[in-house]
Amino acid sequence: MATEKTDVVIVGMGAVGGILAAELGKAGMKVIGLERGPRLSTADFSGQDELRYFQRQDLRPNAKRQPVTWRASANAAAKPLPILNYGNQAGGGTVHYGAVSWRFHEDDFRVRSQTIQRYGSSAIPKDSSLIDWPLTYADLEPFYDRAEYELGVSGKAGNLEGRKIEGGNIFEAPRRREYPLPPLLADQSGLIFEEGAHKLGHHPFSTPRAILSQSYHGRPSCTYCGFCQAFGCHVGAKSSILVTKLPEADATGNFKLLTGTMCFRVNSDNSGRVTGVSYYGPDGSTNTIEAELVILATFIYDNTRLLLVSKTRKFPNGLANSSGQLGKHLMAHITPRVFATFEDRFVNIYMGPNAQKHSLDDFNADNFDHSGLKFIRGGQISVSPADLEGGPIGAAMSMNPPPGIPRWGAAYRDFLAKYFARYAAVIAQTENLPYADQTIDLDPTVRDQWGLPAPRLTYDWRRPNELARIEFLTGKLEQLAAAMGATRYWRSPMGAGAPGAHHEGGTRMGDNPKTSVVNRYGQSWDIPNLFIIGSSTFPTMSGFNPTLTIQALAYMSADAIVNRYKKNPGRLV
Ligand SMILES: Cc1cc2nc3c(=O)[nH]c(=O)nc-3n(C[C@H](O)[C@H](O)[C@H](O)COP(=O)(O)OP(=O)(O)OC[C@H]3O[C@@H](n4cnc5c(N)ncnc54)[C@H](O)[C@@H]3O)c2cc1C
Repeated sequence: MATEKTDVVIVGMGAVGGILAAELGKAGMKVIGLERGPRLSTADFSGQDELRYFQRQDLRPNAKRQPVTWRASANAAAKPLPILNYGNQAGGGTVHYGAVSWRFHEDDFRVRSQTIQRYGSSAIPKDSSLIDWPLTYADLEPFYDRAEYELGVSGKAGNLEGRKIEGGNIFEAPRRREYPLPPLLADQSGLIFEEGAHKLGHHPFSTPRAILSQSYHGRPSCTYCGFCQAFGCHVGAKSSILVTKLPEADATGNFKLLTGTMCFRVNSDNSGRVTGVSYYGPDGSTNTIEAELVILATFIYDNTRLLLVSKTRKFPNGLANSSGQLGKHLMAHITPRVFATFEDRFVNIYMGPNAQKHSLDDFNADNFDHSGLKFIRGGQISVSPADLEGGPIGAAMSMNPPPGIPRWGAAYRDFLAKYFARYAAVIAQTENLPYADQTIDLDPTVRDQWGLPAPRLTYDWRRPNELARIEFLTGKLEQLAAAMGATRYWRSPMGAGAPGAHHEGGTRMGDNPKTSVVNRYGQSWDIPNLFIIGSSTFPTMSGFNPTLTIQALAYMSADAIVNRYKKNPGRLV
């Protein structure tokens, strides 16, 4: 058993942890990072091994050894999820993510007041725990800008300081300057999506991605190989934490990364402060780090689980949980899809970065009038392979045939042979309102490889507001498929209520210690030297992917710690 002392211990070295490690290290703070997985490098990703990364999902946690369970309601039995949506190595999810990098809309930060102002309070579903964020888009804009420029994001501005620009996303919130890099090149699917969307009067644009369209900061540009999601980038063009912030953290001389280490408890002394963390080493040893500041950056399941298992006499319902909000308001994206085939053209959907290649934002957030629609909020629409993962083989495996063609035999073979390069999916990624009874707690029976209770999700997106929104958006997808020139298009059946991509909530932020777990900086209301950062703190989500917002929040927290907390440790206001 080893005990070490440091200024700061950061648990989890993903999207959040890497930014904090670099920024706090630069400010002269001694930082130890704990990461349960290994530290890989760009050279490890040569060969684009589909068996390893797509079939076995080697970059995600092993769903059997590190289970997360799910049940649709409190009365149902929970079962392990077959695939897990987060990282398992230094760099976390950013190593194998699709790198789609959005800023949220202004009204994403004030969904409750925006809804009441435009449609009246009766528009908010009675069972939803909808609140505003304790910060505005304007508060976060400087940190979005830093994240885009320091990490490297390719895109085209649609709103420069209030000036709308066609060809970019005209619905985006105002930005201070252009993206650091021009948009990635569009493939055939992007071009026909753009054409079809224009015919319908929509406003399509190239999706912003943290993938280099040109060389940047010594890294080469994208090769358009198509192996992004589920894979690490073989040239380092994906702006993952592995090739951006971790080298910066190393260069400070103040950062030590301990890989293969599983944190199992946050330690506290019952005086209202935390004293550090305990972890299992790669050899199974039990070790302790004593730290002035503890930062949890482990993604939503472990951010919540670590607090639940670290309960004390003072906090019998989970550390830092005097509000009783810990583990509540779980949200995830819901993604209706329409599949389309084309007779007269090749689409070659598997070329180039595969996630959400081209987008439109006309039916997202409050960008359209919801009067009379029986739902609030919306979704971002894009063109993609049916499933975003796995390069050409993944694309083929996820090609759902139309009704009447089975997924086996000669008819399936003929379908694949004819349509492999003439097939696309039009997808809406829709927001999920928060509901207090969508929760993360500890599974009473399932344990992981370290003997810790598995995080258990109780969640079902099939609520009237979400169902009505999905029906509306699926109709828009069908219109788009037709306008794109598809000869045949059909709906994908929706799943049975399980959480989809981008899980958020569990340690909600707010401006009131009685109704939230952390403040806008991710600082615990109960324990000022404990920070919990990531999408677990989101009070509401957006139709957009979360990571750029997670990263902007990480920059904002780092700034507050370095410039204010470090000088005067205590509650940040
Ligand atoms: C396949 C896939 C594609 C995605 N594509 C996109 C996209 O295109 N755009 C987008 O915005 N988002 C995308 N995401 C989501 C994105 O990856 C996450 O939002 C982001 O990585 C979350 O950042 P984080 O730092 O909170 O968690 P992570 O990046 O997951 O990092 C958490 C780290 O903590 C470590 N850890 C966890 N528990 C412990 C513990 N107890 N002890 C020690 N270490 C621990 C994990 O191993 C992990 O490395 C995608 C996710 C997946 C799975």
